[in-house]
Amino acid sequence: MPNRILISTLLLLAALITGCAKPIIPNQELPPALLSLEQEKQRSLALTEQLKRRQRVMNISFPLMVAAADFCADKVKPSLGISFSNKEGIDKSYRDTAIQDLGLGDALQVILVAEGSPAATAGIAAGDVLVSVDDKPFKSGKKAGASVKALLASLKAGQPVDLVVARADKTITVEITPSQICDYPILISNQDTVNAYANGRQIILTKGLLRFSEQDSDLALVIAHELAHNAFGHVPKIVKNAFTGVAVDLLAFGFGIPSPAAFTITGANLHRQQFEAEADHIALYILARSGQPIDHAADFWRRVAAEYPDQIDKNIGASHPSSPERFLAIESTVKIIKEKRRRGDPLWPEGLNKKSLNKLNLGKKSDGQ
Ligand SMILES: [Zn+2]
Repeated sequence: MPNRILISTLLLLAALITGCAKPIIPNQELPPALLSLEQEKQRSLALTEQLKRRQRVMNISFPLMVAAADFCADKVKPSLGISFSNKEGIDKSYRDTAIQDLGLGDALQVILVAEGSPAATAGIAAGDVLVSVDDKPFKSGKKAGASVKALLASLKAGQPVDLVVARADKTITVEITPSQICDYPILISNQDTVNAYANGRQIILTKGLLRFSEQDSDLALVIAHELAHNAFGHVPKIVKNAFTGVAVDLLAFGFGIPSPAAFTITGANLHRQQFEAEADHIALYILARSGQPIDHAADFWRRVAAEYPDQIDKNIGASHPSSPERFLAIESTVKIIKEKRRRGDPLWPEGLNKKSLNKLNLGKKSDGQ
């Protein structure tokens, strides 16, 4: 660091002595009004892209969150499969754009609806304004966010409710039955590195991972893997093994794809590879229980290996198994699951005791939707 300061100081001195270099062609004068219009246009494009990414993740993750509910013990919640907001819930830098593009105001409005969710089945659409649920009105303004979370949390999975929404000056009442889903919200980080993390409370996917996972089935495999880490309490277990309570917030389970700025974990890697293998194994059960095809799930690791050959060699000290190990283990799990299906057996992992899941699942209650 001192070297950097020294170099910067020398460069500054040299510039002062020799005079600043200037470009040959003078810069154009840009009219401030046009610049601000173009800024708004680009913010609008960025918001559209963000919503597209979130819609894709919602569509892929919703059935997985439902299928994994039996593994998530008490970290479950009733869900309609919508994301919603009013203008207060939007980050200030995008608030004007959201007001302009989505017509957001003080009242809560549906922003996205997950495909195949209770809301989609009931005909709820983006843009619908939330009015009431079972005659209890949704609040608007600054307090809307907290009140709606409490209201939706009070619903019971499997028990139908009357949801009233306003759509183009009409009031529509629909009967809607919430689904039980795992309560591990998914966040999309702006990082361009290819990775995903589970921190015991949430799942974080990078923008780079969404690009890399061109096929939705690849993204489903990654989400199911991270979901398994959270459901099986891997984060607190590793903390217990490695730090005995220190640096909890620094710890997260990555997916194991090396990229230049990948999250690194210091400390003991005791049982980490086994936890990774367990997450891969459970992920396949989650995918199968959600009705997704699993025959080609292992191919993901061949695509990873082609892009990141460092993954091919076995490394005993590494936190993750190698890509050939992960490919073969997934292939083997697929065989086991297909055999269970053929016999009509429940899609439940061998050796997993349902009663022990409550102890496995140690994540704190989150407040995400
Ligand atoms: Zn992992």
